[in-house]
Amino acid sequence: ATPVALLASVGSNAKRGVLIKGGKYIEALDRADVLLIDKTGTLTFGRPEISDIIPFNGTTEGDLLAMAASAEQYSDHPIGKAVVEAAQKRYLTLSKPDNFKEITANGVRASVDGHTITVGNQRLLDDETQEIKSAVDTLKKEGKTAIIVQKNGLPVGVLAARDTERSEAGAALENLREQHSFDTVELLTGDNIETARHLAKKLNIDFRGELLPEDKIDIVKKYQSEGHTVVMIGDGINDAPALAQADVGIAMGTTGTDVAIETADITLMRDDWYLVPDLFASADKTMRVIK
Ligand code: ADP
Ligand code: MG
Repeated sequence: ATPVALLASVGSNAKRGVLIKGGKYIEALDRADVLLIDKTGTLTFGRPEISDIIPFNGTTEGDLLAMAASAEQYSDHPIGKAVVEAAQKRYLTLSKPDNFKEITANGVRASVDGHTITVGNQRLLDDETQEIKSAVDTLKKEGKTAIIVQKNGLPVGVLAARDTERSEAGAALENLREQHSFDTVELLTGDNIETARHLAKKLNIDFRGELLPEDKIDIVKKYQSEGHTVVMIGDGINDAPALAQADVGIAMGTTGTDVAIETADITLMRDDWYLVPDLFASADKTMRVIK
């Protein structure tokens, strides 16, 4: 039987906008010693904007953006949407892409006006020229995500996407770590290592970048096999497998994808990072009563 105190805690959390799918997750929160946090959409709002347009020789800004946006038109990824929006803001004419293909956790490829256009990260490059490397390195140091545009396999320019950080996340995390002790608090992202480092340093937590969705599950499993109790916080389709594997999966309800919310054990229904320390405080308090 579920102790009354656990049910009461589920009820009071629901009033604050935190939906908990069962009392056992309160027990697991109290035990938790590893906290893994997705970056995009979780520590940031996940609504990137295009901040830089850097065409290489022989291309104009408008041509570069129109080419990239044409290829990204069918993309559901926040970066793809940002590229299309930036082009629309400039009233650029887009072409209809053929053979559109998403390259999971890397970018997209499509035929545009008879040319193969590839838009995405450095993993999609055959070889990296000095020109690209210096443009990309500068953008990454600024905490931006570099997006390389290739036409028929040759780089024609670089775009950058900048996401807005959730400003209260740092203070909320600090508050959490004062009241609940963790062995590890780590940022996990599919974004590049430099962008991960940039944000993790500000938050004073560990980080891993350039992860595929299956890498995120493997990290959760590794900690569990070492006897840790793992809490994972995320929002995206690519977080869902890791949310399911974690002892407690927490979804950001307002920006979260349906898949993440369905998979998670706990959903935050308000856009407020302070719900996280409040949730742990309530779990820790409830378990003190029961024990
Ligand atoms: P995250 O964990 O940050 O949500 P994803 O796994 O969705 O990341 O994507 C990883 C990386 O792949 C992105 O940071 C970006 O560099 C690249 N990427 C993915 N989709 C696209 C796209 N449609 N256009 C350009 N780049 C993309
Ligand atoms: Mg995300």
